Amino acid sequence: MDRKKLFIPGPVDVADDVLAAMSHHMISHRVPECAELQGRCAEKMQKLMFTKNPIIFSTSSGTGLMESSIRSCTKKRAVVFSVGAFGNRWFEIAQGNNVPADKHEVEWGTPNTPELVDQYLSTGKYDVIALTHNETSTGIMNPVYEIAEVMKKYPDVVWLVDAVSSLGGAKIEADKLGIDILISSSQKALGVPPGLAVCSVSDKAIERARTVENRGYYFDLVQLYKYAVDKPHQYPSTPSVSHLFALDVSLDHIFKEGLDNVFKRHEDNMRFVRQWAAKHFELFIKDEKIASRTVTTIKNTKEADLGALSKELKKRGYIFSNGYGKMKGVSFRVAHMAERTQADIKEYLETIEDILGL
Ligand SMILES: *Cc1c(COP(=O)(O)O)cnc(C)c1O
Repeated sequence: MDRKKLFIPGPVDVADDVLAAMSHHMISHRVPECAELQGRCAEKMQKLMFTKNPIIFSTSSGTGLMESSIRSCTKKRAVVFSVGAFGNRWFEIAQGNNVPADKHEVEWGTPNTPELVDQYLSTGKYDVIALTHNETSTGIMNPVYEIAEVMKKYPDVVWLVDAVSSLGGAKIEADKLGIDILISSSQKALGVPPGLAVCSVSDKAIERARTVENRGYYFDLVQLYKYAVDKPHQYPSTPSVSHLFALDVSLDHIFKEGLDNVFKRHEDNMRFVRQWAAKHFELFIKDEKIASRTVTTIKNTKEADLGALSKELKKRGYIFSNGYGKMKGVSFRVAHMAERTQADIKEYLETIEDILGL
């Protein structure tokens, strides 16, 4: 089949041996080999998340564990801080599950600040906060290290972080930051096909969840935890064993390259795209400190016909990413995560230059 290079922020291109791992013959999900596989993936995940907390997998995309965590951990009321479409998703999930929640959405392109978090939590109204680490709709990265300082003042609040589009591309140290549930998904910087989600779970989070009623069934955090941690390394229903085979290989790639090298490669990719964008267009996120390491949003200041650009790129073997939601047409995005190299990106950007006559 015709293979195109994906420059969208997920799904991403998957390495051949990771894809091949998915065609491993099937094994029972109740045999020791499967528990060993899940245990191996969990152990590597702990390293990637810089945590000692147990790891839970879910056969769903990342949204499944967002639902699991906010529904299972909110006893009183959750506050959602949003910097874009995926922040808003946290709130929609809460509403859809009858979880009491408030949302504070800032202007797209600006971050959530520690002061804002402090302002909400000091009311004492909330026992959960949900935040996006890397907002894929706009390409902003929230200052979680600064926010973590404020979180220390609120040891009873459970902190949920969506790192779906950053884990594996940017350093995020769950334990140092005090993140209770750190969530990611297979198809972004982890370089695996879509269909598997993962999170770390702190003692505080699971103890809270045990006191919450109506946690749902498929995404009940307590049930997922019981199988993953107490059994251990099992899954309440039938997991996508194929995804675990793939993740095992993909995580090996990451550790073989070395975490620092992987993070540096993503940062170099980001700088390369940002330089190109600043030369030909304009950056949506001006401050590099809060710029996403995995996806860059570029303002379409040349008013290029992005629909036509996308069609022409497809003919030449690339999948283009328009702006997200309300930013479609007026901006576009370049994903630079997972196995992406600077050479791939250069080739892609030069093709755009050629098409638009830049
Ligand atoms: C892609 C994405 C999601 C949604 O993840 P799914 O795996 O598609 O459910 C959530 N948050 C962010 C930041 C994302 O980039």
